Amino acid sequence: MALKLKMGDTLRLKKPHPCGGRLWTVARLGADIGIQCAKCGRHALIPRSRLEPQVKEAAPQAAALHES
Ligand SMILES: [Zn+2]
Repeated sequence: MALKLKMGDTLRLKKPHPCGGRLWTVARLGADIGIQCAKCGRHALIPRSRLEPQVKEAAPQAAALHES
């Protein structure tokens, strides 16, 4: 299933970032997806094909997902 992403969407990934955060905000769309860690603010650029299997949950707003 293709993941539908929009700018500003919040993603929960399966693997936590080294900082411990699992929530990311979509900051750039394209063949590579730019995401920003909601906890430490670091940016990452990941090919869509590699990001999709990592996404556990996606929501249009940060308020919809909670760090756990
Ligand atoms: Zn982080």
